[in-house]
Order: sequence, then C-alpha cells, then structure tokens
Amino acid sequence: AREDIHYFGAGPAALPTSVLEQASKDLLNFQDIGLGLGEISHRSSQGQGVVDDAKAHLKELLHIPDSYDTVFFQGGGTGAFAAIAYLFMKYHVAKYNRVGQANYIVTGGWSDKAAKEAVKLLGESNVQIAADTKKSTGSWTSVPSPDELSLSADPAYVYYCDNETVHGVEPAADLYTGIDAPLVADMSSNFLSRPFDITKYAAVVAGAQKNVGIAGVTIAIIRKEILDAKIEPSILQKEYGLPVAPTTLDLSILAANGSLYNTLPIFTLHVTDLTLRHLIAAGGLSEYGKKAQEKSAKIYSVIDEYPELYQCPVKKDCRSEMNIVFRLAGGDAQEADFIKKAGALGISGIKGHRSVGGIRVSNYNAIQDQSVDILVDFMRSYAKAE
Ligand code: PMP
Repeated sequence: AREDIHYFGAGPAALPTSVLEQASKDLLNFQDIGLGLGEISHRSSQGQGVVDDAKAHLKELLHIPDSYDTVFFQGGGTGAFAAIAYLFMKYHVAKYNRVGQANYIVTGGWSDKAAKEAVKLLGESNVQIAADTKKSTGSWTSVPSPDELSLSADPAYVYYCDNETVHGVEPAADLYTGIDAPLVADMSSNFLSRPFDITKYAAVVAGAQKNVGIAGVTIAIIRKEILDAKIEPSILQKEYGLPVAPTTLDLSILAANGSLYNTLPIFTLHVTDLTLRHLIAAGGLSEYGKKAQEKSAKIYSVIDEYPELYQCPVKKDCRSEMNIVFRLAGGDAQEADFIKKAGALGISGIKGHRSVGGIRVSNYNAIQDQSVDILVDFMRSYAKAE
C-alpha cells in the first residue's frame, strides 16, 4: 500500500495522497459535468477556470505583483532552456538596439545543459560562461560567490540553476539576486520548497514534476516588460543574426494568449493547481521552507556522523535541501547492498543519477517526517553494522 512506501525519487516524484485522490476523481468526472478533465477543451469555461485558478494560487503563494505574468507551457525544463535564450536575447535587442550576451553560472549538470543549449541556439560568441565550478575546482560541488563571476560587458541575462537535481548543489537564498543584470533562475527541483522574492528575478522557470505536480506542464514567471518587448522576427534574424523562437517556445506569444495559444494539458495543470491549494492549506511556503530545512538537516547529520562510511561531496554552504547526494566508502557494490537493504524497509527511489552514481535522497514537499525518520534510522543502523 501507499503508506508502506517511502519513496525518495528525484522526479517525477511523490505527491500528497489527497491531491492524487481528488485528481483521480476529476479525471473521470470534473465538477459534475459528466466528463473528465482530460476530455474537455482547454478553451472551455472549465479549462479556463483551471488556468485562472493555478495562476491565482501561484500569485497567492509567491505574492507575485501585477508587473509579472505566469505562463504555463509544455516543453519541460529543457524547453525552458531554449525559451529563455530566445526571449531575453530578443528583449535586449528590442530595448538597446544591440545584441547582448547570455551569461551562465554553471554549477552542475543542469546549468551545464542550459548553457550548452544556449550555445547551440545562439552561437558560442553570444554566450559567456560566467563560471563553471567543474573547470575551476574539478567538480560540481560548490558555488562561486558573485565576485568570482566573469560576467560579460553587456549581459542580456544571467542564468543559474537554483537547485542542481543531480549534483545536490543549491546556493543559499539570494546569493545571486544582487547581480546587476536580468537574473533568470531554473527552480525545476526546488520551486515552492521555500519562499523567495520574485521581484528580484527577471524570470523563474520550473517543470512541475517535482514539487508541484506531474510531468507535462512547465511554469515560467516573467517580468511583463520583458514579455512585451517587440521586434520584427525578420529584423532580429537579418540585422542582428539572432534566432526566432518556434511558436510553442515563444513565451511572449504564449503570455499574450493567456497560455492558451495551443492546447495546454489542462488535467496536468489541474494536478498542479490541487498541489498549490494543498500548499496554501498547509500553511504556505515558510512552513514548507522550515520543514525542508529540518528534514534535510536530519539526513545530513547522519551522513556527517559516520564519515568513515558516508561522504557527501557537496560543500556545506550549498548542500541542497531537496536532493541529498552521498557516496558509501565501499563504492558501487556497497551502494547496491545499501539500496537493497533499504528496499526491504519500503525505502525506494534512492539510487543516484546514472551520470554520477552513489545515493540520492530527494526531499520534496510531499516527503513526510515519518519517511525521513525511517530512512535516518536505517542509515544509522546500517553504519553501525558495517
Ligand atoms: N532543470 C532541472 C533543475 C531539472 O532537475 C530538470 C529535470 N530533472 C530539468 C531542468 C529538465 O527538465 P525536463 O526533463 O522537464 O526537460
């Protein structure tokens, strides 16, 4: 049964049971119309209602001012890498009549992928790697301070990943919000895990499938001034040599059409909305921020308690509260044994990403204290037995 499983998967990830119970009813018969939410038009009053509700609940949770708009689209975090590059390069040209540079702070596999996507779309000469901790320190286990960044002379934007899902790196809140350029954060794996001040960002993007729903919806919260920037596509291409976004990744077009330019997965967005309602009812983001801190501290403390067995490679000032990564001294073989013994207790989803190995425990909002306690007890008894 669901209650016997302690699932720490990195995404798609566990969701509150009550959210899934309501969603399963609504998939069959939504608001008593005799049809399920996957069967009706995204332009129906019910479809529009889901979009409006999700927007309103996000606004409430994050105190989003009217100078920002929220866009829902398909494409995932990976689609957002491209959408951001198109949007901000266009904005800079529209505002200053010159091409700016895309700046990337690379602190792990996801920001690295985002930077590579920018190079692919914009060309190497338009992309500045402001930092790459793997190049400067040998591994993605730390974050550069703002004064260590090599920002370009005329940045169109500065992009960083607020939580590196694979490498377990999460900079302290507000580390980069003082940067004097439009700041873009990928919050795919820590979105709504703690409060943050949206007004310090030009844009925040997140796939839904970790903290706020199932796969298929991507969220972008963007300053309206940036969305509204206008320039003829042919001028952008011919005079400035920049690419034009395909329509499904053109955040300006999507925003201007209230996220309904093309078919939006309404049921998927509804699962997100139910999750947002659940967060509001449970006390909002400061409540979750406190919980995430407490739960992750329990896990890091047992890691640090047995340094001869467990090693977390990430520096203490940027250890993720969402994705806790560590190795066992005996390497792959011992990790396989650890995962197997954990599985006997119902603990699952803890195998590290295939690119790095080891163990990864994901501690998203839906992870219960009880599951963390069971995991921590297991880690302690495993360490004692070794
Ligand atoms: N950014 C981060 C931080 C992620 O964790 C992920 C996916 N795990 C992505 C981007 C890519 O998201 P998607 O798979 O939805 O394209």
